[in-house]
Amino acid sequence: KAKKSLMDDVVFYSQDISDDAAALLTISSELKQAKAQDQFELLLQPQVNIVSNQVVGAEALVRWHHPKRGFLTPDRFIPLAESTGSIRFVTEWVFQHAIRIIQNWREQGAEMTLSINVSAMELSNRKLFNRIAQAVKLDPTIASAITIEIVESAIVENIEFTKVLLADLRAMGFKIAIDDFGIGFSSLSYLSRLSVDILKIDRAFVNKMEFEKDLAIVRSIIGLAKNFNLSVIAEGIETQEQARTLSSLNCTKAQGYLFSKPISVDQFNKQYLDK
Ligand code: C2E
Ligand code: MG
Ligand code: MG
Ligand code: MG
Repeated sequence: KAKKSLMDDVVFYSQDISDDAAALLTISSELKQAKAQDQFELLLQPQVNIVSNQVVGAEALVRWHHPKRGFLTPDRFIPLAESTGSIRFVTEWVFQHAIRIIQNWREQGAEMTLSINVSAMELSNRKLFNRIAQAVKLDPTIASAITIEIVESAIVENIEFTKVLLADLRAMGFKIAIDDFGIGFSSLSYLSRLSVDILKIDRAFVNKMEFEKDLAIVRSIIGLAKNFNLSVIAEGIETQEQARTLSSLNCTKAQGYLFSKPISVDQFNKQYLDK
């Protein structure tokens, strides 16, 4: 059997880029250029209060309009960006543009929250941290409109370290959500040690609630959130039935294809900003 090579990891991360070894070497410079040339785009997926049927906010999901490879979804470049350390170009761009989206909403009189996804490894990026601090110092109310989503597994891997950083972000006014909650190897004790605001129930459980065991997991997460005084939001709602089940369990917020796929900022504003 052949020895495991670097390329095996690359294949694992991205079929796409493994076809082209040169791309691996240039991924950092490509991402840097993508940031400078605005090749990224944030699509917005509405977050809905399923009791009042009101859109209360949105999650920003990044896309890359790559000059040669075309339209790339995050699974095709985020893992590689993380492994090469060039994820910061994505994160910096996302923060800048998230702030602009919120400023634009405010100018139009809309008070909504915007969730952005941040790789946990970025939490150790002090430079980024300072820049964010600087940006929100100019207008501290911006931070209160932004929720930072971090996946559970990444938090648990380095809990002592993450604890401090999450507390710093919260002190700046950001809200913190644990993304994909339930699929990591969570221990209850970390919830009491971390300062977080929101649990996002992973889609994997939400779309299997017809099974008693998955329903039990969803019910437990909602109960957990309540006991820890956290908000809860369900991801990946695709049917009315799922929405009904969730509201019967007192989960009032959800996002998913039932309401909308991720759409462009312009489309989102046209559809959901009441003038
Ligand atoms: P996530 O944060 O858990 O985002 C939810 C994913 O589920 C999104 O995929 C979204 O399009 C998809 N989704 C939403 N509703 C439904 C539904 O009803 N059914 C199904 N089947 N899927 C649904 P997307 O946009 O491809 O993003 C994938 C992941 O990439 C995200 O998972 C997040 O972890 C990561 N990501 C996205 N944007 C960024 C970013 O700006 N920075 C970083 N570091 N990661 C990002
Ligand atoms: Mg997310
Ligand atoms: Mg998620
Ligand atoms: Mg995910």
